[in-house]
Amino acid sequence: MTKPQMFRAVAAVLFVSFFTLFVVAQQSPEAVSGKRLKRVVVRGATVVDGSGKPAAGPYDIVIENDVITQIVGFDPAAAAAGRARRPEKGDLDIDAAGKYVLPGLINLHGHAHDSRSGKPWPVEYVTKLWLACGITTVREAWSNAKILEYRDRSAANTLAAPRIFAYGGFPAPNLNTAEQVRQRVRDLKAAGYDGIKLYTIDRDLMAAMMDEAKKQGMRVMHHTGVEETNAWDDIKFGTTSIEHWYGIPDAAIIGGRQNFPSDYNYNDEVHRFRYAGRLWREADPERLSKVLDGMIEANVAWNPTLVIYEASRDLQRAQTNPAFADYLHPALEEFFRPNPSNHGSYFIGWSTTDETFWKENYRIWMKALYDFGTRGGMIGVGEDAGYIYQLYGFGLIRELELHQEAGFHPLTVVKHATVNNATIMGKGDQIGRVRVGYKADLIVVNGNPLENFKVLYPTGTDMVRDGKVVHGGGIEWTIKDGIPFHVPTLTAEVREIVSKARSESK
Ligand SMILES: [Zn+2]
Repeated sequence: MTKPQMFRAVAAVLFVSFFTLFVVAQQSPEAVSGKRLKRVVVRGATVVDGSGKPAAGPYDIVIENDVITQIVGFDPAAAAAGRARRPEKGDLDIDAAGKYVLPGLINLHGHAHDSRSGKPWPVEYVTKLWLACGITTVREAWSNAKILEYRDRSAANTLAAPRIFAYGGFPAPNLNTAEQVRQRVRDLKAAGYDGIKLYTIDRDLMAAMMDEAKKQGMRVMHHTGVEETNAWDDIKFGTTSIEHWYGIPDAAIIGGRQNFPSDYNYNDEVHRFRYAGRLWREADPERLSKVLDGMIEANVAWNPTLVIYEASRDLQRAQTNPAFADYLHPALEEFFRPNPSNHGSYFIGWSTTDETFWKENYRIWMKALYDFGTRGGMIGVGEDAGYIYQLYGFGLIRELELHQEAGFHPLTVVKHATVNNATIMGKGDQIGRVRVGYKADLIVVNGNPLENFKVLYPTGTDMVRDGKVVHGGGIEWTIKDGIPFHVPTLTAEVREIVSKARSESK
């Protein structure tokens, strides 16, 4: 061997071993988690595409950069004999045999909090919980300049977070005239907000706001409260989606106003939540039916956020969520503690009577939701977590369970959280489906969520397999915009944030 030959041989060996190291490192889930890859292949998956049609498989799904480029079915027997044509290897190959792939979930009502009780935390506490719960897109429901920054950092993949659509908060201080209201809409548009989150304002101001929003091409999500306006105003002015529910039964009360006691004070949180629990029973069924039809006709969607009131019908269930052990940040724990000055932390003296009213409230509410959906109404899925004992991400999965409880087939529930949510944001041609040409937003699930939505929780669930009780489930990968996030890696990072904050707060 001449010197140059030897040099080349050594270089080749070095190159091969470095190359092997490099490839092995790239293939480890922790190493690739959160990194953009050129090509990801998900192999052998059973696919629920989000449209409401039944699951089917096996399929190989090819992702190139941020887009789904191929979905190829194959015959498992032919594949076992090596006779099936399968896609070429990717930078990452995910074995999804026996697993379910769904479109990434969309959270139509999220809050990207970065502090609670005046104590800051890294926003990744929230955004990584969202990703770990399969959420690839969030409609942020009270956005400010910081949220715009998180949105842009998520898009640039410098923040591990779902895709964010920032809906600017409305009203703001000193909006008392139609012209001030219109100016605020134009300011939000100019600042780059994707839409408007309306809390409540008087009817004439709402009219001006909605008119200007239409002119600016901005969608409006409306927390339709018990105010001067109700769902009929949303129908008339063309609200994109009603958030929560109050304004719907409120529009169906004979006599026009709920039968409040004379000492009722809307700013008293105990009053507000106690008597909200008696609102649905006062709605006249015939009038309610007309309100629902009016919403359907005017294409006003409904995002009920059933989950965020669940503590009202079963306080102890909400307060003892097993996920709190590992995932409840101490600042959020403090915020949840009953304290009349924290919004939604009103449970001082909450009684069996309150819970009984609320259980009836839920029955009527769920029936109205089911009627709305089966008559053709557009239903979305959101969580509103960060309030009332609801953990970010976990709340959205619980919301899926509650839509099933309302009577919807699990396939329809998945559609609510994917295709419907995307449509409500005006993005139905880009996200929300497992389809070639769509954004690569997918989740790979250990288990069948159509059988049990609890398999989506990062904490998993107990199940019987081959006569033995095993702990399983959990999402394995959340792929957002083509970027694979390894869920066990994400949850370990969140637990680390929580345990660090706990030891610092001691
Ligand atoms: Zn909210």
